[in-house]
Amino acid sequence: MFAGFYDEIHEEFREVVREFVAREVTPHYRRWDAEHRMDRSLWEAAAENGLLGLAVGEEHGGMGLDDYRYRMVIDEELARADALAVGLAFHLHDDWVLPAVLRFGTDAQRETWLPRFMDASFITSVAWTEPGAGSDLRGVRTKAVRDGDDYLISGQKTFIGNGITGDGALVLARTDGSSGRGGAESFSLFLVEKEGNPGYRAGTQLDKMGLKASDTAELFFDEVRVPAENRIGDEGQGLAMITQLLPQGRLAVAASAAVVAGQVLEETLRYVRDRSAFDSPITEYQNTRFRLAEQQVALEATQHYVAETVRRFNVGELDVVAASKAKMWASERAKDAADVCLQLHGGYGYILEYPVAQAYLAVRLLTIFGGTSEILRETVAADMLS
Ligand SMILES: Cc1cc2nc3c(=O)[nH]c(=O)nc-3n(C[C@H](O)[C@H](O)[C@H](O)COP(=O)(O)OP(=O)(O)OC[C@H]3O[C@@H](n4cnc5c(N)ncnc54)[C@H](O)[C@@H]3O)c2cc1C
Repeated sequence: MFAGFYDEIHEEFREVVREFVAREVTPHYRRWDAEHRMDRSLWEAAAENGLLGLAVGEEHGGMGLDDYRYRMVIDEELARADALAVGLAFHLHDDWVLPAVLRFGTDAQRETWLPRFMDASFITSVAWTEPGAGSDLRGVRTKAVRDGDDYLISGQKTFIGNGITGDGALVLARTDGSSGRGGAESFSLFLVEKEGNPGYRAGTQLDKMGLKASDTAELFFDEVRVPAENRIGDEGQGLAMITQLLPQGRLAVAASAAVVAGQVLEETLRYVRDRSAFDSPITEYQNTRFRLAEQQVALEATQHYVAETVRRFNVGELDVVAASKAKMWASERAKDAADVCLQLHGGYGYILEYPVAQAYLAVRLLTIFGGTSEILRETVAADMLS
């Protein structure tokens, strides 16, 4: 990010993160990429370095780092190491599941779960999407049926990050027994543990085009017994809570997009400086210079936009429309940056060994998950026309 965005304290935190990435991520990342999953030891090391559950308050043993710039430092250091999939895995845990418990959990739930989020004994997934319901979560068919003090959850989820390696999920399920497209109060959220629940099963691991080191899978729930005390918030409030979680979730994607766009441009600058064609450095061609200039200006605009979005989040003023605008802008810019920068690499840009090729594949996800660009446009337009 630009000078002045971070304070001294964030730079001190960066030292810890950089050391963690050099020791725990870089030596293993290629293997994880080939194996399509990360080692458990990554999460344990992240926990030891205080990098999980940043926003958990001191009363629960955390550091209460709810200033979003700390999360961006982690993203930047992972991007610098071309380890974008680790950032994605951490985002699911820290930007979606953790805030649900922090904001909507009872005191007892916070006491039970927050320490486990931080010590890596409970690595989490977000389990909302289903084969027939992505953008429109009212199409979710997974059902939770009350059975005494428990619920029995049955259904199928897909595209679930950390689905294979994780220990449990924040599951969106239908609780009003309705069928067809549900109503605003048809759904509830549950924290569901894999251990001790034979009906909780990961299915096929999905072979993604990029970000391969993070596992993404189908999940199946067959009458999984979940105590009612694992329901987050009131019954029927699942969608309302998700709406309130969207600002942070979408900020996370916007921030990642700005970080990746910056990283890819920095790597491209290095590349073009070293490359010649027709007996001239390619930096002497007007096309190269113009593309670089355009990307630099777009990047600075994006960084300032994301910085303002982070500021609003930090003071508790980021709403879903503002977060949607930032995600839409930054993810589309990152996609463009990766495409232009790949082209400037010529054939090498197409080779997976080059970070720009990995970034190109990674950013393609950013306009899709956490709300597609089309859904975001609808959100923005609806706000404008209201
Ligand atoms: C790699 C990856 C990781 C993911 N991780 C997770 C995860 O961890 N947990 C989780 O729950 N989900 C996850 N997702 C799911 C992701 O959030 C959904 O894919 C996304 O919300 C889109 O849903 P869909 O795939 O069903 O597409 P659809 O909703 O079927 O959309 C198909 C197309 O129609 C468009 N469209 C749909 N509705 C409208 C509309 N009203 N107006 C205009 N256009 C519309 C969409 O924009 C899109 O272009 C992940 C997805 C991927 C690919």
